[in-house]
Amino acid sequence: MRYAFAVLFIIMVLALLACVSVARRSYKKIGGTVAMLIGMLIPPVIGNLIIILSTAKIPATIGCYIYFIGMDAVMMSLLHFTFEYCVVKWPNNFLRYLVYTIVSVDVLQYALNPFFGHAFDTEAIIVDGRDYYRLIPYLGQTYHRIIVYGILLAIIVIFFFKLITSARAYSERYVVILITILLTACWQSYYIFSRTPVEKSMAGYGIFGLLIFYFSLYYRPITLLDRLLANMASDMPDAIFFYDVYGRCIWANDQAIELVKLPDDKFDRSSELLQAKFGQKEDFNEPEWTCRKVVGTGADCKYYDQSKRTVTDEKGRVTGFFITIRDITKEQKLLQKERYNATHDPLTDLYTKEFLYESIRKKLDEDPDTDYMIHYIDIQNFKLVNDVFGSSFGDKTLKRIAVFLKKRVPSDGVFGRIGGDAFGVFVPKKSFDKEKLESELRTFSVGEGALNHHIVIHVGVYEVVDRTLEVSFMFDRALLAMGTIGENYQTHVAIYDEKIRKDVLWAQHISAQLKEAIANKHVLPYLQPIVDKHGKIVGAEALARWIHPQDGFLSPAAFIPVFEKNGMIIEIDRHMWRCACEILAGWEKEGRDLFISVNISPKDFYFMDVASELKALAAEYKIDPSRLRIEITETTMMTDVENRMKVLEDLRKEGFIVEMDDFGSGYSSLNLLKDMPVDVLKIDMQFLTASADEEKGRTILQNIIQLSEELGMFSLTEGVETKSQMEMLADMGCKLFQGYYFAKPLPLPEFDDFFKTALA
Ligand code: C2E
Ligand code: MG
Ligand code: MG
Repeated sequence: MRYAFAVLFIIMVLALLACVSVARRSYKKIGGTVAMLIGMLIPPVIGNLIIILSTAKIPATIGCYIYFIGMDAVMMSLLHFTFEYCVVKWPNNFLRYLVYTIVSVDVLQYALNPFFGHAFDTEAIIVDGRDYYRLIPYLGQTYHRIIVYGILLAIIVIFFFKLITSARAYSERYVVILITILLTACWQSYYIFSRTPVEKSMAGYGIFGLLIFYFSLYYRPITLLDRLLANMASDMPDAIFFYDVYGRCIWANDQAIELVKLPDDKFDRSSELLQAKFGQKEDFNEPEWTCRKVVGTGADCKYYDQSKRTVTDEKGRVTGFFITIRDITKEQKLLQKERYNATHDPLTDLYTKEFLYESIRKKLDEDPDTDYMIHYIDIQNFKLVNDVFGSSFGDKTLKRIAVFLKKRVPSDGVFGRIGGDAFGVFVPKKSFDKEKLESELRTFSVGEGALNHHIVIHVGVYEVVDRTLEVSFMFDRALLAMGTIGENYQTHVAIYDEKIRKDVLWAQHISAQLKEAIANKHVLPYLQPIVDKHGKIVGAEALARWIHPQDGFLSPAAFIPVFEKNGMIIEIDRHMWRCACEILAGWEKEGRDLFISVNISPKDFYFMDVASELKALAAEYKIDPSRLRIEITETTMMTDVENRMKVLEDLRKEGFIVEMDDFGSGYSSLNLLKDMPVDVLKIDMQFLTASADEEKGRTILQNIIQLSEELGMFSLTEGVETKSQMEMLADMGCKLFQGYYFAKPLPLPEFDDFFKTALA
């Protein structure tokens, strides 16, 4: 039997050594501590091995020393391991050093035993027919036992404490070690106190070492995991249904039970209830799926995200499924609200510009065979509407238009608000009815109390011929068409056509070249003589001409309206005034007593200080201001009248002569004329010829000439083409004349020649 145990102990030592080597290499933090503890179990086993095998006193005594001192080391490393395994610390350093000291004293007293013999001795007894040296304990041995049992007790208390204070899922890890410690301790105590020879309890050390090795480094707490996962599933906000491989529901969390109103623990009814709620049976043939379900309609509808997952074991075998259902109603509604706010104008509830453009592009792409029309809708003088009737009426007008569009635009069209007072509409060509739209706009009004205010709305229409064009450019074209309506009160709708396209291209073409043309003197004044009743040249009107290197001779009709519109007219006028001053300065030197009339556009008043510019020029060229006459039209005086009158008065004070151009061709407000700071009335001959009744026309002309005289103005008739016209006008009392009858507008050298010939 001794030898059988000796072999068992050797195997155990080898097994423990293997564990030490594996534990040392473990990636776990506790690996080092485990290796140390298992390593420390080896000396007592070896000590016992020696005792078992010894037939002489000395080796048996050495075995005892190894065993007892080894036990001290075992207890210290077990204590250390306990702290780490149970995640506890020394209560304080004093206790720690006290324990170290007590154990050290034990080692010391064993070291002194050979001299004093106070700890133990051995005695020979016969076991298996041979000598076996059995321990005879003395006082020192009792000290050793107290220490060992004391530490053991502390360790058991720690484990026990952890066992009762930890969550149930963790108890497994403590209980196994605690039981092992207790069993090993009991087994060993039995041998110690019974003094039975051949201590077999050392086998317990081996088992103890292996259990520690396994539990500390390899044990996966399945129960713990199960519990954690179950708790997680219960606490999750999603509803979860777990199914076995046959598609039977085996468990559902509270949220799931609540979702389908599952009766207590009747999990097998979940499929039927899910189908009743979501109208679809779960598909267990597909391993995984996700889908979104909408339950209900309108404001009460709810949104759910569902997904099915398959659970497999380590070998990839299907062990079950689970379905999660998340209520995303809140997020969806918030998202919808945000999307709505981002795509709708808050005042009118119509699409925003960006969203309208996006919708139009989508429709164009989705439906390549339908022809569409784009409308640019604009309220005329909306600023005035706001100023006169107040901004709340302005808002009301915008809302009225929104209602008008909602009623009028067919369901296959889209519309939105694309600017302050601008709206955009996109409809199939077949629904576009110009006449109907015209008549509806003609009567468009917005009520305020008992009053109804007529609101002028203009619509520019572009037929989407080029579908690749950016939507914003399509609206630009519709806007261009709208721009052609102008002051025509009868028209509200204009359609973009080839002429508009050409005009735009032409405008772009010449606008890009204007600055250079001025610098290169391609834009220059032609002078049309102005004569008195004796036919004597008294002055000239400077009229702009553009000698274009590629497009040839351009009359003002080709470029003045373009530049009037885009404001570049001020470049031309500045240049013309300077040229006129230059010519006048030359004439002054020659002693020629002539004036030059220059034209002033309404836009000049917007974009520059007309009076200062003219004064500065007169000063720069040192000319008498009375030689530079200024032609303004009635249109100029239709806006910002007071300020413009001040400018004219200022100019007259300086000595400039102001002429009212084209009188008779426009509104010809006689009332306005009464207050105008004007020296000369330039009567338009057109006014005479356009009239069907010549006699009546003549009477009016006669009266205007007379009126001008009475108002203290000089009369000048332009457009005089025949001798008889000239004679008639002279008879009526007209003072000055201008027209083809005398000369066409002439380039400066030709004008010089004409002047000299006339003198001769
Ligand atoms: P406007 O200032 O009334 O100039 C008189 C226009 O009548 C000139 O046309 C002139 O050539 C034309 N005219 C003169 N006599 C006769 C005639 O007997 N019969 C007919 N049928 N026409 C006659 P034009 O030069 O083509 O200029 C047209 C308009 O362009 C001018 O009308 C003026 O409003 C504008 N304009 C010309 N040059 C300038 C300029 O430098 N600046 C500005 N702002 N406008 C200019
Ligand atoms: Mg003129
Ligand atoms: Mg004129």
